[in-house]
Amino acid sequence: NLSHELRTPLNVLTSINQLIKNLCKKEVFITPEKLSYYMDIMDRNTSRLLNLINNLIDNSKIENNSYVLTKKDEDIVYLVEETVLDMKDYIEEKGIELIFDTDVEEKTVRCDKTEIERCIINLVGNAVKFTSEGGLIEVTIKDLDDKVKISVKDSGIGISEENKRLIFDRFNQVVDKSAELKGGSGLGLTISKQLITLHGGDIYVESEVGVGSEFIIILPVNND
Ligand code: ADP
Repeated sequence: NLSHELRTPLNVLTSINQLIKNLCKKEVFITPEKLSYYMDIMDRNTSRLLNLINNLIDNSKIENNSYVLTKKDEDIVYLVEETVLDMKDYIEEKGIELIFDTDVEEKTVRCDKTEIERCIINLVGNAVKFTSEGGLIEVTIKDLDDKVKISVKDSGIGISEENKRLIFDRFNQVVDKSAELKGGSGLGLTISKQLITLHGGDIYVESEVGVGSEFIIILPVNND
């Protein structure tokens, strides 16, 4: 699956390169629209490759215990809300409604801001990928005193019992052929789980096929 994931975007990039070269050789005029269309495809595939390689490197570092978190006291409510709001336009452009709700206004958690952001982006990004137009994504924060619960719930396609056990494992994406079409490295949840574990927390999923999925992160307030 990994070689496939690496090869696909590279093949796309090579094909487009070849195509443009041929047009140039034949001195065929390329309209700016056509050119920007090709550039967009190249952009998407470069990002996909970069994302995959970054995830692979981080995954190896975490497995070798050489990944260092930079923990500080952060207001988790502000952190999650800002991250989710940054994705609001992207979510609504897909015709999906976004609701953010919290039962506390402020809550300090010792954590690596960038890495928690990354987990939220992964979860919300997945929720968008697997929810159709007209659907709903709800992000909620609940204060559990010495812990905090962050939930990302969608009304998407859901996950079968069998796949629930597999999705936090490396290159799990192979379990779902339709997911392959949607792009992704099959590493997002693996890295998210590793990062949450490094914070002394837990991440799990509750889901029903055809109804939706809820990914839940439990983070301890103090985890040094
Ligand atoms: P990818 O980068 O391929 O999305 P992830 O590790 O983030 O990899 O997710 C692994 C797989 O878990 C996905 O390919 C998909 O099959 C399933 N999955 C993740 N999130 C959801 C969701 N919100 N709804 C349905 N399926 C999901």
